[in-house]
Amino acid sequence: MERLVIPEEAFPALSASQVGRLRGLGRAYEVAEGDVLSTAGDRQRDFVFIESGEVELVRAAMPDHPEVVVLRIKPGTFLGELNMITGQAAYLTARVSVPGQVRRLSPDGFKKFMLEDAELSEIILKAFIARRSMLQSSEGARSIELLGSRSSKEAFALRNWAARQQLAHMWIDVETPEGESLRATLGLGSHELPIAITPTSVLRNATPNTLASELGLSFEPAPGREFDLVVVGGGPAGLAAAVAGASEGLDTVLFDSGLAGGQAAASSRIENYLGFPSGLTGADLATRAIVQAQKFGARIVSTCGVAALCIVDGQLAIRLTDGSQAVARAVMISSGARYRTLPVKRWQEFEGAGIFHAATELEVSACGGPEVVVVGGANSAGQAALFLASRQKKVRLVVRSGDIAAGMSRYLVDRVLADPQIEVHSETEVVELAGTEALEAVTLRNGATGNRQQTPCNGLFCFIGAVPGSEWVEGVALDDDGFVLTDHDIPEKNLSAYAMLGRRPLSFETSVPGVFAAGDVRHGSMKRVASAVGEGASAVRSIHQAIGNG
Ligand SMILES: Cc1cc2nc3c(=O)[nH]c(=O)nc-3n(C[C@H](O)[C@H](O)[C@H](O)COP(=O)(O)OP(=O)(O)OC[C@H]3O[C@@H](n4cnc5c(N)ncnc54)[C@H](O)[C@@H]3O)c2cc1C
Repeated sequence: MERLVIPEEAFPALSASQVGRLRGLGRAYEVAEGDVLSTAGDRQRDFVFIESGEVELVRAAMPDHPEVVVLRIKPGTFLGELNMITGQAAYLTARVSVPGQVRRLSPDGFKKFMLEDAELSEIILKAFIARRSMLQSSEGARSIELLGSRSSKEAFALRNWAARQQLAHMWIDVETPEGESLRATLGLGSHELPIAITPTSVLRNATPNTLASELGLSFEPAPGREFDLVVVGGGPAGLAAAVAGASEGLDTVLFDSGLAGGQAAASSRIENYLGFPSGLTGADLATRAIVQAQKFGARIVSTCGVAALCIVDGQLAIRLTDGSQAVARAVMISSGARYRTLPVKRWQEFEGAGIFHAATELEVSACGGPEVVVVGGANSAGQAALFLASRQKKVRLVVRSGDIAAGMSRYLVDRVLADPQIEVHSETEVVELAGTEALEAVTLRNGATGNRQQTPCNGLFCFIGAVPGSEWVEGVALDDDGFVLTDHDIPEKNLSAYAMLGRRPLSFETSVPGVFAAGDVRHGSMKRVASAVGEGASAVRSIHQAIGNG
């Protein structure tokens, strides 16, 4: 573990007036040495301000490690980190080490305070974010240990989910001496991998779903609850809708079947997003947006897909893949588009075990060796090739057309051609995959010469166009390619539901009143981050009108 570096933002110096406001919250309690303020695994916990004394944050004993004091917190500051916003169960125990006095504010009181005191809410949020990133590289990260094989697709899915959730956790490769010894200590067989060890349990054959449920991050529907807005898909469009909706008082829940952040989070660098002249990573943009939506009270559930749009007792509802339902006054379809796959044998077998549709640090670490192939002729493929080359990979960029400039922006083409780590194979296709447990080699075929060449390949990164994520939206008018039609694009024959309401569809509204669409899944959209964000946020104006708020 690295030495714990405490950034200033994590424990900000508060002014007398700010301390005064925090002292006015909740109720004061005298605390004695050894008193536990919250225990690892607690789902509901108070916001605590330490007036005097000292509190230590303790990582519980794990099967392979004894209990450790991660941090001691002095008076004049507050406890907590990002899980106070995301709803994740506590992963450290807060125990009084020097007696004194604390103030406790209930979870509902804390939510209210965060919306009312803009100045302190910004300071607290920044501190929570800084504390999370600090804890990710501390002993605190051992509170959630993920043990599995680097070449297993199940382990990759789990690591990918944990990384996207920004969980403080530790990945342990079972093929290392540490991993083997942990597996032996737990007495578990290889067929039980991957394993997730949390402060409260050991999950065998762990999946993002079982881990989310254990950590309190899954959806638990309350009977009779009606949301103002259910957002389906947590890419830039859905997240923008959730931020706009929740900040304007709509009771909002967002579901994502994979990883909130959408395609944008798969990008190693988005260079054309307003306000970030030197670009930002897609994962960074997604994480900020997720926290922002949660800060305004939106619930983000990112292990649960939506299986169908339905009408229950005359009300709009969505049915989740786990069979549960969420009833809503308005539904936002922002399920984007997903990358096409190549029609090559064994493709499914290697998805996540050598074949990836994103190029970020996580995929780099999951590639066993230096040889990679990027397939695609558009900007996303160019960005991925440059990123992988910057991580010392030997990149073969495979493009079907004869000229990479045909589908890629000039600035990327120039950088790709100038990079000594990238070899461009134009008029070429991947025709065969080889490997035992993970991908090890691919065969490339040149369309002009017919030549076939087998090349080592530890990672195949595929970016070849997209299909709309609209298979679940039955009953809504789509275009011939499956993209969702909205407002002026809906043919008259599909507008019968509006005749009874005596109105026309609003901007971004679909052929079903109260159901909206934004982003890449929408017919005619621009397929860009900025336009998806703009559409998601703008649609909320129409949603207010449709449900009678505006
Ligand atoms: C590698 C890469 C690089 C890119 N670079 C740029 C760039 O530099 N600049 C730029 O402007 N654009 C870029 N793009 C394009 C941009 O990312 C997309 O246009 C944008 O993400 C679209 O946002 P969206 O919200 O509409 O959909 P998406 O981002 O596709 O998000 C849709 C979400 O819906 C979820 N979903 C799908 N079906 C369901 C279901 N049934 N239930 C629940 N959830 C569901 C998916 O899991 C996904 O998270 C890039 C894309 C990629 C892949």
